Amino acid sequence: MNCNIIKDLLPSYIDGICSEETVAAVEKHIEHCQGCKDTMQIMKQPTVQIVETNVEAAKEPFKRINKKRRFQVITAIVLSFMICIIGYQVVQNVGNVHQLFFPKVVAIAEITDDMEDWQSISFSSDLINHQDYVIYDSFFWKKEIINEVNNESDVLLRVKDEKGNVIIDEFPISPGESVKLDSLNSKEKYFFEIKAPQGRFTINAV
Ligand SMILES: [Zn+2]
Repeated sequence: MNCNIIKDLLPSYIDGICSEETVAAVEKHIEHCQGCKDTMQIMKQPTVQIVETNVEAAKEPFKRINKKRRFQVITAIVLSFMICIIGYQVVQNVGNVHQLFFPKVVAIAEITDDMEDWQSISFSSDLINHQDYVIYDSFFWKKEIINEVNNESDVLLRVKDEKGNVIIDEFPISPGESVKLDSLNSKEKYFFEIKAPQGRFTINAV
């Protein structure tokens, strides 16, 4: 019996619906025909499993791509999220950072009576929170006091310590000029007083 006939018979043989004669013929052929034996082995494997195996095998490259893609997407999301947070923090704190490296407080003195008496001035770094003293709390203070250039006239200033002692007696500053107060210590509170003609004066401490 030739191989083609055997291959035609194999499905029926495997399903066990062949006559005894056919079974005998197939088995006899298979004994000495490796090709038909192999074909039978393949046919004997459950059909469903073969299909599934093939489908899984076919999916594998896509799975790998999906995994890689998923990793990239997650990485991108995480990075974007981190950049958002860092950016937000920088924007929120840039004022503070700037204030740390370039400390500056501003006083706006309203003088109502002409040169009458010393008037204490209060400083602010953000125009919201005022304090009536200056404290040189970091290395970055230049310890300079500036009579802003737009001010209308010279002012007299003097500096007191926390106990009310005059530490630096009156000194004049012209508009647009600054005076360096090197004798002042860091981390002590200094209270500034002003004498000036009637008007509005912006005094900067840096
Ligand atoms: Zn054969």
